[in-house]
Amino acid sequence: MNAMPKYPVNCGGADCVAVAAFKIAAQWTDGTTRELKTYFLSCQECLKSLLERAGEKQRVCRLAPAEKLEPPGVYDLSRGAPDRQLVRRAELE
Ligand SMILES: [Zn+2]
Repeated sequence: MNAMPKYPVNCGGADCVAVAAFKIAAQWTDGTTRELKTYFLSCQECLKSLLERAGEKQRVCRLAPAEKLEPPGVYDLSRGAPDRQLVRRAELE
C-alpha cells in the first residue's frame, strides 16, 4: 500500500510542475509497526524548502506515548519500489 505509483509524480512544491525525484519521509513506529510516513514528493529544486516544511510538520505532530516519529529524511524516489527499499540520501538533508 506504500508502493509508489508507476507513473511520474509531480513535485509537491508550490507552483512547481517538475516531476518528483525524491521523497521526504520520516520513520514512524508505535513499537509494533514501523513505517515510512511521507510528507512530500519533491524535485531537486524544491528539496530544501520542502524538507524544512516537513520538519515543521514533524515537530508539531502529536504522538501517543508509544509512538515515535523521527525527523524527516530524503529518499530516492524509485518508482514502483516498496518503501523499505528506498535509498536514503542523507547527504541532501
Ligand atoms: Zn519542485
